[in-house]
Amino acid sequence: MRKCITILLAGVLALSLAGCGRGQDEMEVTETGTDTRAESLEESGEESTAETPGESTEALPGLIPSALETEPSSEAAGSTEASQAAFQDVEEKVYTTARVNLRREPSLEAEVITVLSQNLPLERTGVSEAWSRVSWNGEEGYVSSSYLTTEEPQVVENQAGTGIYHEGGDILVVIDAGHQSHQMRDTEPNGPGSSEMKAKVSSGTEGVSTGNEEYRINLQVALLLRDELLSRGYSVLMSRETNDVELSNVERAQLANESGADAMVRIHCNSSDSSSVRGALGICQTEDNPYCGDIYDECLQLTEAVLNGHCEATGVRNTGVWETDTMTGTNWCQVPNTIIEMGYMSNPDEDELLGTSEFQQAAAEGIADGLDVYFGR
Ligand SMILES: [Zn+2]
Repeated sequence: MRKCITILLAGVLALSLAGCGRGQDEMEVTETGTDTRAESLEESGEESTAETPGESTEALPGLIPSALETEPSSEAAGSTEASQAAFQDVEEKVYTTARVNLRREPSLEAEVITVLSQNLPLERTGVSEAWSRVSWNGEEGYVSSSYLTTEEPQVVENQAGTGIYHEGGDILVVIDAGHQSHQMRDTEPNGPGSSEMKAKVSSGTEGVSTGNEEYRINLQVALLLRDELLSRGYSVLMSRETNDVELSNVERAQLANESGADAMVRIHCNSSDSSSVRGALGICQTEDNPYCGDIYDECLQLTEAVLNGHCEATGVRNTGVWETDTMTGTNWCQVPNTIIEMGYMSNPDEDELLGTSEFQQAAAEGIADGLDVYFGR
């Protein structure tokens, strides 16, 4: 199944290797004004706000799938006070050697902020006998030092650039959290050889009620989906695990193509001019798409399965599949792929819902259910 696994080194996600494609659905557009369901697809013209690496992109504690209990055993945990006092300041980059909990305090009893994946780059700012104080995506927390190394993980780069690879089973699924904090206004061809040019990527839409940025919600669900799929025996290649990246839609599609993935799922939230429009939407190409019409059947099956799974798990209204050839990320993608628009951030109720950890966990499980159906598992 996977030919070349593009492993990753998330730390260098930012690079855009020449030749890569770019791709996601992001922002594509909506130029078809005829279908209100889709207006959403991003293209919010706003300038991206500077990213503060700070906001946490991870899910709320409590809903995180149980992390492997890979932490040091009891005595290493020590009391918070004692451990805090024993911390020595350092400044270095380290990498996780396994999936491990990021905790609020240096104690096994402390709240789990999130589960860090393997090979994740972190800034280490302090060490004690058993714990390391680290910064990840702007969040400070503690990780068992036994699961950190200063050696860079194996990085395999190909023309598609880098993704973050997690070994879990024979089937490889690429998860692409739509958008990113920076907009990329430069353009790229809407399809291989196409003269129609579109912006490389937008920052997505924004919650009408919460003000939540779409790219953050997308990543939160993507990270939960990653863990859900790993627990179900899939391997996962993440296009991004932080918001501060530079990945165009073509590049994202190329990442899937070059990895030899079995499927790609692109996670998005929708938007409409009308605040009353609500529901989830699946998107794939038409049968006549000049670039990828040959995989239409697979893409439609995947789209229906993922959409149904999502709607059943979350209770969001199923508004069906929209077939369109306007999506750059779809046109460039050569493996079965789908866009799941989880709900409308322009609808106050769905906007509020999309931001909750309960909804996000349900969405991750529902999308995973859809993948199980598609792969006959
Ligand atoms: Zn989007």
